[in-house]
Amino acid sequence: MNIILLGPPGAGKGTQAQRLVDRYGFKQLSTGDMLRAAVKAGTPVGLQAKAVMEAGQLVSDDIVSALIGDELDALAPGQGAIFDGYPRTAPQAEALDVILTARGRKLDHVIELDVDEDALVERITGRFTCAQCGKGYNDHFELPKVPGTCDKCGSHEFKRRPDDNEATVRTRMAEYRAKTAPILPIYNARGIVSHIDGMAAMDDVTAAIEAVIK
Ligand code: AMP
Repeated sequence: MNIILLGPPGAGKGTQAQRLVDRYGFKQLSTGDMLRAAVKAGTPVGLQAKAVMEAGQLVSDDIVSALIGDELDALAPGQGAIFDGYPRTAPQAEALDVILTARGRKLDHVIELDVDEDALVERITGRFTCAQCGKGYNDHFELPKVPGTCDKCGSHEFKRRPDDNEATVRTRMAEYRAKTAPILPIYNARGIVSHIDGMAAMDDVTAAIEAVIK
């Protein structure tokens, strides 16, 4: 099964994707994570993407579509994929169709998480993750049970994304409205879009996604 999770920054795509990975063995394909890894490693793609990401703008379609193609090639044929943060533009949506067809895959569901943008700013500026295992936390909603210690792996190191500040978040949301939201009609026409209330409790959002994919 191949699923796109769609929604503005902070809608909970990454968190929900991680849960589906843990429960059903999907592979999470997050172009944001891939780009951050490239920036950290200092690869040519990373060097090109760094400033664009820090400004909250979109990296070029060709770069992200190439990353997605490579990751899909590394998957076992039967393993499901969750696209998190991709596609983000109409050319990326077209590229994804080509990429999937070439690999004998098809898109089963596009799940949009509907959210209140102002509430998202609080959510995003509060979020941080374990530097070891990637478990997500939030200053306002979910702190580690033992302060300073990751619930999942026991690490004491945490990190925040450099683009999770209010000014950049506003730019990222504007990019979503201008370039990503307009791709929904492409998928609506195929009858594969579901809308889920992304402001609901995390477990309820997961249950709603499970109801769609079962
Ligand atoms: P994310 O982790 O999905 O919020 O992505 C973080 C940043 O990476 C975005 O603000 C963009 O600069 C870049 N990025 C991630 N995915 C894409 C994509 N599909 N197309 C273009 N830029 C992307």
